[in-house]
Amino acid sequence: MAPMLRLYNTLTGAKEAFAPIDPSHVRMYACGPTVYDAAHIGNARPIIVFDLLFRLLRRVYGAAHVTYARNVTDVDDKINARAAERGITIRALTDGTLAAFHADLRDLGVLMPEDVNVPGERPRMIEPRATDHIAEMVVMIEALVASGHAYVAAGHVLFDVPAMPDYGALSKRPLDEMEAGARVEIAPYKRSPLDFVLWKPSKPGEPSWPSPSGIAAPGRPGWHIECSAMSARHLGQTFDIHAGGIDLIFPHHENEVAQSRCCFGTPVMANTWLHNGFLQVEGEKMSKSAGNFVTLRAVLNDWPGEVVRLAMLKSHYRQPIDWTLRGLEEARRMLDRWYGAVGDARPAAEAPEAVLEPLLDDLNTAAALAEIHRLDDPARLRAGANLLGFLGQTRSERDAATVAAAGLDVAAIEALIADRAAARAAKDWAASDRARDALAAMGVAVKDGKDGTTWSVI
Ligand SMILES: [Zn+2]
Repeated sequence: MAPMLRLYNTLTGAKEAFAPIDPSHVRMYACGPTVYDAAHIGNARPIIVFDLLFRLLRRVYGAAHVTYARNVTDVDDKINARAAERGITIRALTDGTLAAFHADLRDLGVLMPEDVNVPGERPRMIEPRATDHIAEMVVMIEALVASGHAYVAAGHVLFDVPAMPDYGALSKRPLDEMEAGARVEIAPYKRSPLDFVLWKPSKPGEPSWPSPSGIAAPGRPGWHIECSAMSARHLGQTFDIHAGGIDLIFPHHENEVAQSRCCFGTPVMANTWLHNGFLQVEGEKMSKSAGNFVTLRAVLNDWPGEVVRLAMLKSHYRQPIDWTLRGLEEARRMLDRWYGAVGDARPAAEAPEAVLEPLLDDLNTAAALAEIHRLDDPARLRAGANLLGFLGQTRSERDAATVAAAGLDVAAIEALIADRAAARAAKDWAASDRARDALAAMGVAVKDGKDGTTWSVI
């Protein structure tokens, strides 16, 4: 019997016991980034939060019984414009931005397909790209037109929102409010202001694919249809968990639900919908115009990825998070204490129940971290931290990695430490201080304990 996991479900507006459709194959989808430019710190939040949920599902149901699909949007107006500017294909552009994003995710300790997939077995993690699923999108669009849920107008295919009686059930917005929002700019070919694009014509020079039947000229898909097509292909027409940022509830997720349910004739697209809260920077909404736009790479140049991950998980995923320097400093101190306590101990076989319990309660990370902080047995502390994706390395391994990243020379450091020990043994305090100062100048701090002298990168 799997331990009981409770999750807050946006669809029902309540925290519920999570009951997978098939406990031997739990299926989860998260909307990933649009890879047109360097990712910002806000993009990292859903990735880290849902990485934790994936780890937890693997712990509860077994690693071979969970599949996680996290998509990549690699075609949209911004991508097309940026590729045209540079005179390269959208694939060349997005391959570059995606590789940079992957490097960031590795630093953040996020599980990647190559970490979890086993050759010859059902995939445990998939990172589908929109441009690899255009044929599936066209099939869905044609089915929606055939069933009267979509129509062709002026080279577009539009979803006919009034043809779906319970449209809006996820975001729970009144229809008139949604209409007022959509009225800002109504394209003349729309029958209703809420109708949204499934397929549109490509302008000359833009990427294009053969259109659904009824449209002669090649075109390209709208944004929402990609997630309906990719989730159905990899997880099935109905699956367990659909996750994403709170800003995606409307219209993106509402429209995904409309497309998938009307295409497949299903009562739900996913049973449980999870949404993470907003991220602010030092109390302000992050925006390029406000000048507080922080790229993920810039943060990772200054801080270890593990510190960034911890700073992110200290807040509950549904709460807004205020991204501050103070928060990062606190996270660094917390991790330093953990590394100091675990040293090179191997993790215990299982994470302590005290750490698992709060995570099972709608990912209460703050309580789980507090429990880890209370543990003094090194093996248990490390196993508890491992469950949340921390302390993957021993202290020695971390120090070696930090030293390598800082470009330090370990032999020179150890020679100075030996000089200092010899000077102290000879009570030559001036020589001892010189060695310590030379180490400090290299960015290395030394500490004398009962087990001898240890050092760390400042
Ligand atoms: Zn999506």
